[in-house]
Amino acid sequence: MAAAADLSLIAYGDVVAGCERCSLAQTRTQVVFGAGSPSAELMFVGEAPGFHEDKQGVPFVGAAGKLLGKLLEGIGLSRDEVWIANVLKCRPPGNRNPLPEEIEACEPHLWRQIELIQPRLIATLGNFATKLLTGKPDGITQVHGRDQEVVLGGNVVTLYPIFHPAAALYTPRMLQVLEEDFARIPQLLGRSPAEREPDPEPAFGLAEQLNLF
Ligand code: URA
Repeated sequence: MAAAADLSLIAYGDVVAGCERCSLAQTRTQVVFGAGSPSAELMFVGEAPGFHEDKQGVPFVGAAGKLLGKLLEGIGLSRDEVWIANVLKCRPPGNRNPLPEEIEACEPHLWRQIELIQPRLIATLGNFATKLLTGKPDGITQVHGRDQEVVLGGNVVTLYPIFHPAAALYTPRMLQVLEEDFARIPQLLGRSPAEREPDPEPAFGLAEQLNLF
């Protein structure tokens, strides 16, 4: 049976499905609330749904999402074990950057998700999520890989800014940095990498597996 907090998250998702707090409500196909485990210790926060996410109602299902899935696999986790969400729950037309007023309108949904899920670690993917959750203007290039403890949703949470997977899709150096930053996640969760069965050494690196570059 689902725990009370899980049911609250599902009920909250039903409320957010009808959100009209900003004008993206007029152009979206549907709200992309988030996906994964409602009791996840690890949460990822990206930027906003793109074309495929808007169509399917699930975050990170396009090319960047496939890379995120592979990076998770690389540290012995699956999408079902974490919670994946975005700063904006609706797609900005043409995948333009989120506007300040859209972020302001949407952020209560993210805070409520954090309150209900109570993750121990939040990995912010790219500039928009990092700036919103740290409350600081420092960009991802300066702060990636620097974990910090903050109080969010009434709980102590470790914030861990890392590059957005979309940025690593076309830049080999960034993929390498992202993989290195990902490799620290088990330790930040208080797990030694050895606690999980290591994957057999892949014949190819991530870039080859995903046909990147
Ligand atoms: N990029 C994001 O930031 N979020 C998604 O859901 C997909 C791509």
